[in-house]
Amino acid sequence: MNCPFCKQNAREINFKDTGTLKRYITGLGKIRARKRTGLCRYHQRKVAKAIKQARHLGLLSATEK
Ligand SMILES: [Zn+2]
Repeated sequence: MNCPFCKQNAREINFKDTGTLKRYITGLGKIRARKRTGLCRYHQRKVAKAIKQARHLGLLSATEK
């Protein structure tokens, strides 16, 4: 099991935790593919959702230079 969230037994991903979320977006602000993140399906979805929420609230910019 490679998924870091599974290792932590995390069920939910806090969208306010931008430090963590930033690890899962590319330099262009896109969500990294699961192949790159090493997350399980469950957490990949959770991360994607958290990133979208964070973007919506302006915590993460949709396009970062
Ligand atoms: Zn997981």
